[in-house]
Amino acid sequence: MKKILIMAGDGIGPEIVAEAVKVLDVAKARFGLEIETDDALVGGAAYDVHGDPLPEVSLEKARAADAILFGSIGGPKWDQIERDKRPERGLLRLRSSLGLFANLRPAILFPQLADASSLKPEVVSGLDILIVRELTGGIYFGQPRGIREENGERVGFNTDVYSESEIRRIGKVAFELAMARGKRLCSVDKANVLEVTELWKEVITEMAKDYPEVDVSHLYVDNAAMQLVRTPKQFDVLVTGNLFGDILSDQAAMLTGSIGMLPSASLDVNRKGMYEPCHGSAPDIAGQGIANPLATILSLAMLLRYSLDRGDVADAIEKAVEQVLEDGLRTADIYTDGCRKVGTTEMGDAVAAALRG
Ligand code: NAD
Repeated sequence: MKKILIMAGDGIGPEIVAEAVKVLDVAKARFGLEIETDDALVGGAAYDVHGDPLPEVSLEKARAADAILFGSIGGPKWDQIERDKRPERGLLRLRSSLGLFANLRPAILFPQLADASSLKPEVVSGLDILIVRELTGGIYFGQPRGIREENGERVGFNTDVYSESEIRRIGKVAFELAMARGKRLCSVDKANVLEVTELWKEVITEMAKDYPEVDVSHLYVDNAAMQLVRTPKQFDVLVTGNLFGDILSDQAAMLTGSIGMLPSASLDVNRKGMYEPCHGSAPDIAGQGIANPLATILSLAMLLRYSLDRGDVADAIEKAVEQVLEDGLRTADIYTDGCRKVGTTEMGDAVAAALRG
């Protein structure tokens, strides 16, 4: 019996996670999966009840689970509370407590959505890239950090830091994924200015000798951002640190038309993982029943593939999503003329029905 912990979070989180759970229930019935689920509070929802965005009870459940399906956290309601209690801190703590150091963010353009991209269809059609982002190091965790008074004014500061072993650990994941895909790996740094990424580049270059079949390239982050919109299909796997990966993966997201379509996985060394959509809690549309649940449903597919070793079930879910898009159903964020506009629940129902067959 495998255990999945459901952490719905804030904003649209509970709405989109409910649709993924619906799809999971159908998958369990169709494939006879032995999976039990449990729920735990996280983010602002947890702060409201426990005064902590990641209470011990939630962390314990997360530790005990084989995989976590996560919605999203945050919102204006919690923007002014003390920094350590903000929802985002709960998420960062969860990732670091579980050792989830490898963030996999695929950007795949479903052919049915080629028109939803802001780029020309010929530039993005058939796009299939994977951004591997280091998730538990770098400037988001480096010490010292803070805001202090200096010479009568406030000074903000953070520290970008990576050890050689941290770079090797994420590099190994990226090289192995490249080997299983198109055998091309682009490492992104800012080695001309930042020593921490000079080391990053050196270590990736050293590692390349162990993967002679992989074609390795290096780009400065500003050039990588430019290339991603100029000719995105030149990329197969990109590997980079926490900060650059955060930004580039959102940029890659928009190549596909909507951030509402993009799943992600965060894995530990044993492939236990947390799976979540790339987007945030979308407070501007929360409670309206119009959020796109497909990124969360596709995150569930990744969960089954990477943590539960059920690539067959993942394939079936991805096929069900494609079927629904083929049938012309669209949430508002991916809507184009001639399609049928549906809400969150209707989209989830349609994927569940397509999976049921
Ligand atoms: P966001 O991703 O929540 O929203 C950006 C835009 O995309 C909004 O217009 C939103 O309506 C739209 N959008 C996002 N997801 C969508 C979906 N599934 N369907 C349709 N439209 C969708 O980013 P933001 O506005 O910068 O952040 C809002 C809150 O989310 C903040 O509190 C932020 O800290 C938090 N956040 C959380 C995570 C996370 O939980 N991992 C990630 C990013 C941001």
